[in-house]
Amino acid sequence: MVKQTIQIFARVKPSVRKQQQGIYSVDEDEKLASSLEIVLPRDLADGFVNNKRESYKFKFQRIFDQEAKQEIIFEIIAKPVAESTLAGYNGTIFAYGQTGSGKTFTITGGAERYSDRGIIPRTLSYIFEQLQKDSSKIYTTHISYLEIYNECGYDLLDPRHEASKLEDLPKVTILEDPDQNIHLKNLSLHQATTEEEALNLLFLGDTNRMIAETPMNQASTRSHCIFTVHLSSKEPGSATVRHAKLHLVDLAGSERVSKTGVGGLLLTEAKYINLSLHYLEQVIIALSEKHRTHIPYRNSMMTSVLRDSLGGNCMTTMIATLSLEKRNIDESISTCRFAQRVALIKNEAILNEEIDPRLMIVRLQKEIADLKAELAMVTGEQRTEALTEEELLQLEKLIASFVEDQDPESRLEVGADMRKIHHCFHHFKKLLNDKKTLENTVSSESTTQQACQEPLKDEEYTKLRSLLKQRDNEINILVNMLKKEKKKTQDALQYSSTEKSEARPPPNSPFIAGSPAGQRTSFSSSLSQTQDLSVYRHRSSLLHKKTGMREEMSLGRQEAFEIFKRDHADSVTIEDNKQVLKQRFSEAKALGESINEARSKIGQLKEAISQRHLQQVALGIAESMAPPSTPDPQEQKLRAQLEEEKSRYKTTFMRLKALKVEIEHLQLLMDKAKLKLQKEFEAWWAEEASSLQVNSPATNLQDAAKPFPQQDQTQLLSKKSSQGLEVENGAGKPDVCDRNARRILPSPCPSLHSQEPSDSSIQLQDRPSSIPLTGDRQTDSDILAFIKARQSILQKKCLGSN
Ligand code: ADP
Ligand code: MG
Repeated sequence: MVKQTIQIFARVKPSVRKQQQGIYSVDEDEKLASSLEIVLPRDLADGFVNNKRESYKFKFQRIFDQEAKQEIIFEIIAKPVAESTLAGYNGTIFAYGQTGSGKTFTITGGAERYSDRGIIPRTLSYIFEQLQKDSSKIYTTHISYLEIYNECGYDLLDPRHEASKLEDLPKVTILEDPDQNIHLKNLSLHQATTEEEALNLLFLGDTNRMIAETPMNQASTRSHCIFTVHLSSKEPGSATVRHAKLHLVDLAGSERVSKTGVGGLLLTEAKYINLSLHYLEQVIIALSEKHRTHIPYRNSMMTSVLRDSLGGNCMTTMIATLSLEKRNIDESISTCRFAQRVALIKNEAILNEEIDPRLMIVRLQKEIADLKAELAMVTGEQRTEALTEEELLQLEKLIASFVEDQDPESRLEVGADMRKIHHCFHHFKKLLNDKKTLENTVSSESTTQQACQEPLKDEEYTKLRSLLKQRDNEINILVNMLKKEKKKTQDALQYSSTEKSEARPPPNSPFIAGSPAGQRTSFSSSLSQTQDLSVYRHRSSLLHKKTGMREEMSLGRQEAFEIFKRDHADSVTIEDNKQVLKQRFSEAKALGESINEARSKIGQLKEAISQRHLQQVALGIAESMAPPSTPDPQEQKLRAQLEEEKSRYKTTFMRLKALKVEIEHLQLLMDKAKLKLQKEFEAWWAEEASSLQVNSPATNLQDAAKPFPQQDQTQLLSKKSSQGLEVENGAGKPDVCDRNARRILPSPCPSLHSQEPSDSSIQLQDRPSSIPLTGDRQTDSDILAFIKARQSILQKKCLGSN
């Protein structure tokens, strides 16, 4: 059992503004813990009831300041928890903080770069790496992904998710067994045999979460997500199974309801925006007070699910995410206070071992049989009937393998049957006697032979010896030749079989694409094809969702989407990632080629070594010399080269394997970004469509495509659009938090490639009428015209301001 208080860490999100300097300081000097001091600026402190305190100090195990990279967060925070999960203990890591403070960034990772991947992908990578290394146990890994929104649980990996709204899905419910263990009904567990499979499940869940989110339900800030790795392990032959769960939790934003500034709120307990966070706090308070016996876990779904993580059988770690800017000071202090309470909670983690009943039955059955036999022997109850033919045959087989077994520890197990034991003794006696007779005959034969023969003459003797040596050499050569032929045939067979298995490479495979035609690529054989297939299946389902949406678009809307996409801030990320991906693909290709090279070099070296060997033997025969006892230096050199090539092959192979995971990750990031873009476009489109139908007669809007007087431009832009423009004119880059600004054209200055208003009416007539978008063709064309008009206004604006 491991007793441990919940570990608390703090992470400060990087800020773009300089003004926050002086708001906080980190003191790393203290021996056991670091401390974070938040200093209230004077202007804010004045607003307090109690304005004596101007700074607050909080202790954490460690504080990660703005520049801390994802890698160090994993190494320090997540790795120890992952290690204890591998050892069989439950683990939980949860991120707590206000919206925008970096919880998702820390737990899942950033959506842009591979290096930004967060705790979940890194932990998966680490766990699978460790599992591969440890061959002493048999491991099974399952993944589940639960979202709790408005006190209801949803399975983010439910296959029906793709077609449904969040509300239509069966709810995940809590069941409690008589031992008060919590079980989650309707939460699916998915086996993952590789890192890629687990990663795909993570992205699948995230995508499902994004699809289900609507402007009405901002689930990503108000819901809790619990990604769980279920790990079971067992030693071969043992009936004891260890189970461990690792929860990686991205909690809802911890902000409170009325954010009226620091004044007044700071020292009072304000209400949470999220009810279950309020219950979480109640549980934490109850746990941190020693005398409390009742802990209100049952008040909310989240506290029920995380019951073990809080004050139970689990090693738990909290990451307080802080966005330490002036306007966030009160929330940051609340987060730190919450962490201080959490740090008081003591958990007791135990090994979760369980006996597998099926394995236990087999074991018990054998034990019963042994005991019965022993009992029969002790009680003297003997069987008198003779052994059957079959029994005798089996017994002799056992004896034969026992005699042949070189292991001094080996035993002959015949059970507690006296008939069998007697038979064994008889058999051994017979074997011994037979051997004696044989030895006697051989020795008497040889003495008679020797007595009959005359002693050999010296020269005859030498002649015979040289003949014998010659024959020996001949046999050696023949044996070598035979070996070579056999190897060739084997290679040919192997080659043809791998060619067959490689006949259908998985789509997108960077490794196959890079290899010269007909050459054997070792990855496809080494990395299991089934896993690749499942990975591609996952991805294709994501892609299908995406392209499915696209196919339904009319030409007009597609064109609008292209404009929207071009000007969207995320398209830069997508483009950047495309470039990185391209680079990685060519790296993978180069690595693939280098591996193929190493492989053929290895083959050549092996061939050269055997040639050399043969040459040496031939030389020995030609010169009638005995084979040299010292090793041949040439052969040694070749062997050293062979080892070198082998290690080059191995390192390149490992690098390629890591690259494969990175490519997979980048592709998933891109899929997700594209899907997000499309979703934002759909929302914007629907909004524009409805506002156009309400506000402007279609005919007026058709005119908008034509050049129009300056005063009309502002009328054309809807209320929201002009908000977008304000943002664009202001800070330069749109604020990430300002969704309205993003939903309109998000670029500060739309690109200046001329978007000549092409004849939209022609294109729209071509549009298949069977796939209406807004349900109204006129409106579609209106919107397109409107976008184009806006485009040209914005272009003019930009040119003007330049
Ligand atoms: P939360 O989940 O707490 O609401 P996010 O993780 O979504 O917050 O972070 C908000 C924004 O800040 C995102 O765009 C994210 O990429 C960025 N961000 C957060 N933490 C960091 C960090 N440590 N480094 C760089 N960017 C960060
Ligand atoms: Mg988040």
